[in-house]
Amino acid sequence: MKSIYSYSLKELQNDIKPSFRAKQIYNWLYKKYTTSYEDMKNIPKDLKENLSKNYPIDISNIIKKEVSSDGTIKYLFEFQDGKTAEAVLLLMKDKKKDANGKVIRSEQYTFCISTQVGCKVGCSFCLTAKGGFVRDLTAGEIVAQVLYLKKDNNIDENKSVNIVYMGMGEPLDNFDNLVKTINIIADSNGLDIATRRQTISTSGISNKIEKLGELNLGVQLAISLHAVDDDLRSELIPMNKAYNIKSIIEAVKKFPVDTRKKVMFEYLVIKDKNDDIKSADILVKLLKDIDAKVNLIFFNPFEGTAYERPSNNSMMKFKDRLISKGLIATIRESKGIDISAACGQLKEKVGNNGNT
Ligand code: SF4
Repeated sequence: MKSIYSYSLKELQNDIKPSFRAKQIYNWLYKKYTTSYEDMKNIPKDLKENLSKNYPIDISNIIKKEVSSDGTIKYLFEFQDGKTAEAVLLLMKDKKKDANGKVIRSEQYTFCISTQVGCKVGCSFCLTAKGGFVRDLTAGEIVAQVLYLKKDNNIDENKSVNIVYMGMGEPLDNFDNLVKTINIIADSNGLDIATRRQTISTSGISNKIEKLGELNLGVQLAISLHAVDDDLRSELIPMNKAYNIKSIIEAVKKFPVDTRKKVMFEYLVIKDKNDDIKSADILVKLLKDIDAKVNLIFFNPFEGTAYERPSNNSMMKFKDRLISKGLIATIRESKGIDISAACGQLKEKVGNNGNT
């Protein structure tokens, strides 16, 4: 049975009569973070009974939580069938007060959300890939991660957060549920997280990037590029054999981008693999007609990997080269490095590969 979190407001308005009740229910769920129909005071008893029977609320549990000293919180969710996936809260900016103790800036959060249990893409640098693909998450299971992170951190109903679909799984591989989630959490009667605050981070399924672009939802795009030649990229991301660099760049060029925003290209820098100046120059050429920003990420070695972390010096040189050629480039700050920071690592610790 589908969870209530899988329903758009419109669907509920069609199902529930009188339809104004749907907005009241949305309000309880997404503004007051209510997780029991019993507590919905203005909903009549018979409707509550119908809802409990046909639209279950309680679909996931937080079974593990790790808090880092920099404010990052990593969650492991368990769904109704016992499968698990992760979500991460990143504290991007802390609260700021003036000399009199008055708050002049509130906290800024980014939620990193999973869309699948496991993943089909099989990136060679990723722990999630090791467990293979288990199943897609439903829209309700994706929405619940956002909702529970807000609730668990007492984040005010009116406080907006940024969402990045870059936890476990390839979001575009679960296309319909992703699009449904984007619309549900953007609804102003619910979580009200504008689509421009939602970023789809993809390993680069070109035809789905185009399909997403055609929907013109107003979402942001981040591409895990990681290499500038197809041989290396196919080694890192085997799916590159089906969707090569050229096809990704072409798809991104067609994607409607908010004029105030840029397409983010993630580039995992690996020692002696892709950290040379020649690669930086090719990257500049590849992105020349795109309003792009490059995010450079240090490769963090894990047990069993043959890749190595680049030196600080080569990382700086790479970044400076991109900037000198007119690209915006940053080095990603490693958040939560004292906890299980990379996707798939919390599950590893719990000893659950999703196939329970
Ligand atoms: S890095 Fe992302 S796309 Fe690649 S295998 Fe891991 S979860 Fe899948």
